[in-house]
Amino acid sequence: MEALKEHTIPFTGLKDGQHQFQFELGQAFFDATGEEDFNGGDMHVDVTLDKTPTMLVTHIQVDGTVTTTCDHCNAALDLRVKGEQRQIFQLHGEDQFDDDELVALDAKAHSINLSHYIYECLRLALPARRVHDPGECDPEVDAVLGKLSVEHEPVPDPRWDALKQLKTKGAKP
Ligand SMILES: [Zn+2]
Repeated sequence: MEALKEHTIPFTGLKDGQHQFQFELGQAFFDATGEEDFNGGDMHVDVTLDKTPTMLVTHIQVDGTVTTTCDHCNAALDLRVKGEQRQIFQLHGEDQFDDDELVALDAKAHSINLSHYIYECLRLALPARRVHDPGECDPEVDAVLGKLSVEHEPVPDPRWDALKQLKTKGAKP
């Protein structure tokens, strides 16, 4: 994910305590993700940033729609997505370790960019299987797919039956 400059938060000037930020994600954001499945969308992002002398605790919330393609009929699909994620940035972190939730910032850093974390939050909130609600798939594609699955109905292999019988026999004393 490409970093977008509107998601940069300069933190050196911020007082300790809670701060709120809002972002609207549109076409530019979805293009910048480099994700072929993301054709667009309209997403609202709320970020709460808690600043302490040693760390920045961000709480990212996304809510909106992502336009992707349906796994079943391949037509455009608007998915409602709602998710949240916490990300902690350690200031002047002496321990140079990163894990999923904790990122150590360079001592010279004066801003953080949230594009990547917003994207991650969005990705995690997306369902693994993306399909239209029943009856809302492209009817033409649906008809063709329905026909195909009937034609390819698996015919039970008689050898399995024979094997099953053998096993049942073997199990009996
Ligand atoms: Zn569909």
